[in-house]
Formats: sequence, structure tokens, C-alpha cells
Amino acid sequence: MAELTQPATVLAVTDLTPHVRQLVVKPKTSKISFQPGQWVSLKLPVGPKPPLNRAYSIADPPSPYGELTLVFDRVPGGLGSNYLYELRSGDEVLLSGPYGKFVLPQPLDRELLLIARYTGLVPVRCLLKEMFFSKIQTPVLLIAAAPNEDEVLFHQEWLTMGMQLPSFRYLPLVAQNGEAEAVEKALSMLTPLVKGQPKVVPMICGTKAFVRPLLAYFTDGGYARKEVKIETYD
Ligand SMILES: Cc1cc2nc3c(=O)[nH]c(=O)nc-3n(C[C@H](O)[C@H](O)[C@H](O)COP(=O)(O)OP(=O)(O)OC[C@H]3O[C@@H](n4cnc5c(N)ncnc54)[C@H](O)[C@@H]3O)c2cc1C
Repeated sequence: MAELTQPATVLAVTDLTPHVRQLVVKPKTSKISFQPGQWVSLKLPVGPKPPLNRAYSIADPPSPYGELTLVFDRVPGGLGSNYLYELRSGDEVLLSGPYGKFVLPQPLDRELLLIARYTGLVPVRCLLKEMFFSKIQTPVLLIAAAPNEDEVLFHQEWLTMGMQLPSFRYLPLVAQNGEAEAVEKALSMLTPLVKGQPKVVPMICGTKAFVRPLLAYFTDGGYARKEVKIETYD
């Protein structure tokens, strides 16, 4: 069945970093029931053949009021993200969803290894908040890559989570020279932690240049493809 496309009202606009913005939107027709890790499709009135469809992961677990938190970076020359940067509180945007399979496996019977770069951290944040609220005890290791010191996302939240949840480990990294450097740094952090250890559940999110080499690391290391969950943004 086709998903309902409906207008949503922008409730709040907040800058999280110099190039990352958060929008809280509330669907007007019906509440969207979603699983943490899923995304919505925005239909934007721009481009040569509007609507321009752009996917945005949901950054906060389901709320009783139905509002959705979206977080995105401003892509230089990017049609969709630059349009979203013009939106103000009270404006409307068309969306549909939820979509996607980047959700927690059930049962979650192994350590969870979350690896994401920049706004690839958005669905990861939703998963982690849900796990935190539900008091899930599964051990979690998060490797979070930022493109520079000013663009580190959700750092404070994860430091706080690390203090409150002994089962949560957070390893931030900054790689200023793009995805290849971020992959190299992530591998140097995770290799001593996973090599020779029982299998974990890897979940990797970001652009293909970041996700694909990390996926290959696991599949070359003996993981079946379906044991590694990925979400690519481009
Ligand atoms: C399932 C899914 C979930 C997504 N969730 C998010 C999200 O939560 N937050 C978010 O910021 N984006 C997310 N994206 C990416 C988003 O849909 C757009 O592709 C992004 O905002 C760029 O769109 P644009 O029209 O501004 O740029 P375009 O004109 O389409 O240019 C895209 C180019 O910009 C570069 N780029 C820089 N940053 C990004 C980025 N974040 N995503 C993709 N390309 C990028 C790439 O090199 C790409 O070639 C998601 C994509 C998918 C497929």
C-alpha cells in the first residue's frame, strides 16, 4: 500500500553546529508510527521536476504527540538541504513514511557496534535513545566520526549516556580529510576491540565512501552480509 503523503508543520528550528540544523515537525493528517532507525521522505517544491524527494532519518524515538525530529547538514549547492534551511517555524513541508530497515535486530543477543559519520549519526541517536529509555542492557560501542571539531554531533548527550549506562562505550573521532581518513581512524579504533572476540552486531551509517569499506572489513573478516546492517545516504 502506498504511504500517505501529508503536510507537516515546522514546530521548531535549532542549529546544532555551524552546518547542521534540527527541525521538529508535526504531521498534520495522521501520526506516523515508526521504529527507531527509520526515515521519512520529504517532497520538496524545488528542482527542475518538483517535488524533489529527499530522505531524512528520524532523530528522536516516537513521542506521544507525534512530532518528528529531523537533523541534516547543509550540503554546499545541495537543492534539498538548502531548501530545508529556509524553513521557519509555522511553515509546512510534505512528507511520507516511515521507511527503512536500519532498525535493531530482534532479539539483540550480541554486543551492538554502531559506527557512523556526521549526519549518519542521526538514526543511531534515535536507536540509542530508545535503548536508553527502555533500559536495554545490551553492551553498546559507538564510534562517532566528525568532519571537523566544530561539527561534532550529539557529543554531550553521549558523554552523559556513558556516565549513566556502564554498558555504553563512546569513542569519538575527528577526521578532517574526508571519509577515507574517517574509515582509517574508525578501523584503528575498532580492530583491537573486535578482532578475536565473539561476533558483534555491526550497524554502519553515512555516505557510501564511509560505509562500504567498513562493511567490507566485516565481511572479509567472516561476517555474513546479512549480519551487518548498513544505511547509505548517497
Ligand atoms: C535513507 C536515507 C536517510 C537519510 N537521512 C539523512 C539525515 O538524517 N540527515 C541528513 O543530513 N541527510 C540524510 N540523508 C541524505 C539526504 O536525503 C540528502 O541526500 C542530503 O540532504 C543531500 O541532499 P541535497 O538535495 O541537499 O544535495 P544533492 O544536491 O542531492 O547533493 C548530494 C551530494 O552532497 C554530498 N553530501 C553531503 N552531505 C550529505 C548527506 N548528509 N547525505 C547525502 N549526501 C551528502 C554527497 O557527496 C552527495 O553526492 C539520508 C539519505 C537516505 C538515503
